[in-house]
Amino acid sequence: MKIKLLEKNKEEVRLLIEDITPALANALRRIMISEVPTLAIEWVEIHENTSALFNEMIAHRLGLIPLKFDPKKFNFMDECECGGKGCPLCTVVFAIDKTGPCIVYSKDMKSSNKEVSPISGDFPIVKLLEGQRIKLEAIAKLGIGKEHAKWQAANASYQFVPEIDLKNVKDIDKILEVSPKGIFKKVNNKLVIVDPYRYDEYKFVEELTGQIKVTLNTNKVVFNIESVSGLSPGYIFKKAIEILENKANEFKLELEKIE
Ligand SMILES: [Zn+2]
Repeated sequence: MKIKLLEKNKEEVRLLIEDITPALANALRRIMISEVPTLAIEWVEIHENTSALFNEMIAHRLGLIPLKFDPKKFNFMDECECGGKGCPLCTVVFAIDKTGPCIVYSKDMKSSNKEVSPISGDFPIVKLLEGQRIKLEAIAKLGIGKEHAKWQAANASYQFVPEIDLKNVKDIDKILEVSPKGIFKKVNNKLVIVDPYRYDEYKFVEELTGQIKVTLNTNKVVFNIESVSGLSPGYIFKKAIEILENKANEFKLELEKIE
């Protein structure tokens, strides 16, 4: 298997993977979406709320705020050495105490762990009018997207790579004339492919001219991984591979028992 990095920024990576099967690509995609653990607020204790929003609404909003954390330093509560009671190794407490007039933002959440915070301080939580007050404590724990979407680590998708056959090209100018911008160019009187991943657009040119042939290679995929949590897309991809490996090992162990 060969992996090539096509694009990378803080929230998103695009990878080209060769010699992969559709089944493996799909297993990785599903794990990235629903099984990579992230941290999100699960319980909210409201001490005072005279804002216009119901307690439930505020708790829901807090749950959806992505949190930045170091995944190596957190345990699932039920696997933690505290026995699931909740401790600094498996939970983080955020406190909010604000009085209006103001807008309460995610930057107003005081964290019990200085390494854990919302990924941005600019998420609005509630608007308070003169004299209105909100005082609460919110507890975050690890979870997975399968349980609730607030723990979803990433949006992940893949597409098979198109293969474009230019053997039967006769009229380059005609092809350039009907092609969407940026998929072909003419260099030294030859037609050159510019962005080989735009399958639909090359297919369109195939149908219109009949001079090129576009097929899909199902053993070659381009993966898009966009983080929607406090984890980096590179970490999410590696973690998904680790989770898949553990599943395979568990399966092997169970098989050995029945042999
Ligand atoms: Zn614990």
